[in-house]
Formats: sequence, structure tokens, C-alpha cells
Amino acid sequence: MISLKNRLALTLTLFICAAFAALFFSLNTASKKIFDNFVRGVIAEKNQEIARAIAEQYRPLQKQFDIEALESVGMIFMHDGFIVDVEDERGSGVWNARDMDMEHCAAILQKISERMNSRHGKKIEVQSASFPLLYAGMAVGNVNIASAGPLFYTEAQSEFITHLNITLAALFFISLVVCIVFALIHAEMLSRPIVRATLTARKIAANYAGGNSVNGADAPENADGCGLTPSLSLPFENYKTRELAALSFSINEMSRELQEAQARQKQLTGDVAHELRTPLASIQGTIEAFLDGVWDASPERLVSLLNEVKRLTQLVNDLQVLSSFESGAITLNKTEFDIAELLQSAAEQFTNTACEKGIEIKLFLFSWRAIADYGRTKQVVINLLSNAVKYTAKGSVSVLMEKITRSSGEVLSIKIADTGSGIPQKDLPHIFERFYRAEKSRNRGTGGAGVGLTIARAICDACGWEIRVESEEGRGSVFTLVM
Ligand code: ADP
Repeated sequence: MISLKNRLALTLTLFICAAFAALFFSLNTASKKIFDNFVRGVIAEKNQEIARAIAEQYRPLQKQFDIEALESVGMIFMHDGFIVDVEDERGSGVWNARDMDMEHCAAILQKISERMNSRHGKKIEVQSASFPLLYAGMAVGNVNIASAGPLFYTEAQSEFITHLNITLAALFFISLVVCIVFALIHAEMLSRPIVRATLTARKIAANYAGGNSVNGADAPENADGCGLTPSLSLPFENYKTRELAALSFSINEMSRELQEAQARQKQLTGDVAHELRTPLASIQGTIEAFLDGVWDASPERLVSLLNEVKRLTQLVNDLQVLSSFESGAITLNKTEFDIAELLQSAAEQFTNTACEKGIEIKLFLFSWRAIADYGRTKQVVINLLSNAVKYTAKGSVSVLMEKITRSSGEVLSIKIADTGSGIPQKDLPHIFERFYRAEKSRNRGTGGAGVGLTIARAICDACGWEIRVESEEGRGSVFTLVM
């Protein structure tokens, strides 16, 4: 497959050559035409000049031409390529250059013909024209002027046009070479950022894949399998072409996103391991203590053991729900029910916990019948309510229903607002991600695994609902569900 640089260079070179050839051809033709017109004018003027010069050799007193004078002017014109034949007013021959030197005349015409034919590719034939001879306004005879036709160049004119052609050709050749060099440099400049972007994209892919080469490309020197390095970016600010700058910018963005995703993935693996290890270690320790006879299997210890097992079971269930959503294996079991009743029943599940913490759950409900999956809808509400109660130390949790009018009709918005710890701004874009927990150390104490909101969002996506959050650290959070 041809490279972009070669294709660009080839296309530009071909285009430049074609453009120069067309330009050279038209300029050459035009300059020849203009010069030929100029020469035609010069010849016409020369004929008039010859007629005037011949007429001046008329002697009115003798009523005849001065033959000697005629001979001297006629010979000058003959050397210029004009063969003169003078007649008096009665048509009788007075003086003819051919009579003087027939061979010389033929040789001159032959020389002109050869020059025009070989140098300028023009076929020449002898042609003659007749002009009246006027002396003081009186007709005194005629002159027939034979010359090479339809036009011929003098030696000087011939040299001029040859030099002009050579200069033009040289100029065109130099310009052509300069343009081709420029085209090659331009092709190189345009293709270099693309080649660089391709290499960088390969390096990013190879790094992301753990240092393996992509599409048979060699593994990059800094692909050490240790993850993406910040050096994998392109100097897009330096590119003057908008599309190239945009391409480089996109690759940098992709590189950055991948680095973040990779970091999150590592974090996620660590989190899963931690989530499983803590309850497992606790269960193992307790059972070993029972077996060694260090502890009695008292009802309280068995309850604590059971709670750890339940927590593990819950986590495994949550992960299973998530994976079902991600693989699209979930079917929604839709029925008609009242949302207010669902919210009321969900809130009741948290009344005890809220009472123990000294926080109030306020409900602002009205009847709204919806057709949806009751179980999944309740799961979303419970996850949001559970967080609101969990992350609120004092104050209240409110559940608020609102009607919103949209172009498509009326929709229902459910807000679950709390006056709790709130979520730091930097964490807000990530809290719906799997295992993501804001302020990890603090939240570890709450016992959450960071999957509740991910499940809520997965359900909303499946139902075509919107879920969003607004929060201010230290002042509380508001989760909005639009269905
Ligand atoms: P978790 O089980 O940790 O609560 P979630 O997915 O439900 O997991 O929530 C993700 C993170 O979002 C939580 O760890 C917490 O930091 C933050 N969060 C969620 N809801 C609230 C809330 N109402 N107030 C403060 N922080 C919240």
C-alpha cells in the first residue's frame, strides 16, 4: 500500500508538472504569435520603405531612374532578403536584382528558408508583392518585391526569439524544480504528524495491552508493560493544521482516558480483593478460634459471623446483578403500580436506622401510576435511600415527587435529598462507576462496596430513565431520578 507521504508527493508533482506544461505551451504559443505579428508589421513597413527609396532614385529632368543609384540601394535590400524588380510607368523593366546576380539572390532566399525551417520549423516559400512608385505625387513606375513568405526573421530577430525561448525554458525548469522540492517538503510536513500519531496510537495500544505489539508493529521502547506513561502524548499545540491538531488532541485525550481507566481498573481489582479479604479473614479467624477452643460459639459471635457472610453474599449478588446488566441478560417484568406507595414502603425499611441515628425521613408524595418493573424500581430507590441515610449523621432525608412538563409530555421526577456529608466535586463524575467510593478511608467505615449507585444507574439505563446527582461537600446531596 502506498504511503500518504508518497501519494501526496506523487499527486503534487504530477499536478505541478501538468500545470507547468500547460502554462509553458500556452505562453510559448502566445509569445510566438505576438512576435510573428510584430515581424509581419516590420516586413510591411520595410516594403513601404523600399518603394520610397526606389522612387527617390527617379530623375524627373531626364524622366528616368538613376540606374547606378538603383543598383546600390537594390543590393542593400537584397542583402536584407528583399529581391527588387523595378519597372517604369509603361511596365518596361528598369532594373532587376535577379539580372544583377541571380545566384546571389537564390542563395540569400535559400539561406533564409533554411534558417526558418531548421530553427523555427516554419516552411518558407518565395512570394512577391507589387507597390506603385510615386515621385512628388506622380506615378513613375512599379516595384515588385520578392521575399521569403509568409514571413521571415532576420538573423538578429531569429537570435532574439531563440534566446527568448531558451530563457523561458530555463525559467520554467528552475521553477518546476523549486515547486517539486516544495511539494516534497510539504508532503513530508503533512504526513509526519499523521505518522507520529499512528506510532503513538500503537504505543498506547501496546502499553495498554501490557507491552505487546499491536498489528505486528514492534513493541515501543517505552512499552515496559508497567502501564501507560505520560510521555505518550503529541505536541498538538505545534501543529498549524486544524485537522492535524484535532487528531493529535484526540490521541492525547485517548491516552489520558486510558491511563485513568487503567488506574481505575487497578484500583477496582484492589477494591474487590479488599472487599472479599476483610470478611473472609474475619470469618476464618472466628472459625479457627472456635476450633482451637479459644472462643465459645456464643450466639453473639455466631450472629457476627452470619453478618459477615451476609455482607459477602450481598456483594456477590450485587456483582452478579451488575454483570447481568452488562451482558444484557436482564429482562424487565413490567406491571402497573403507584410510585408513591413504592416510595412509602421503601422509606419504611429505613425508619429504624434513621431513628437510631436521630435523623428524620420526610416524604412529599402524590399518587402517580407507572408501568415499570416494581422490583428493579424499588432497588434503585432503596440504594439511593440507603446511601442518604448512611452518609447523613444529623438532619434529615427527604423524598420528593415532582411533575415535570416536557415536549414529549409529563414526566415524574423523584428527588432523594439529604443533609449529610456530601460528595467532593472531584468525585462527582465517578460515583456511578463500579467500586468507586469517595473519600475511601471514611467510607470503608460505612461498609459500602461502591456498587449501589452503579446498579441504580444500570437499572435506569435499562428502563430509559435519567439519574443524576448534585452535591456540596459538608452540605448534603440530591439524587434525581426522572422516569
Ligand atoms: P457504597 O456502597 O460505597 O455506598 P455506592 O455506589 O452506593 O457505594 O456509592 C458510591 C460512593 O458515592 C459512596 O462510597 C459515597 O462515597 C458516595 N455517595 C453516594 N451517595 C451518597 C450520599 N447520599 N452522600 C454522600 N456520599 C454519597
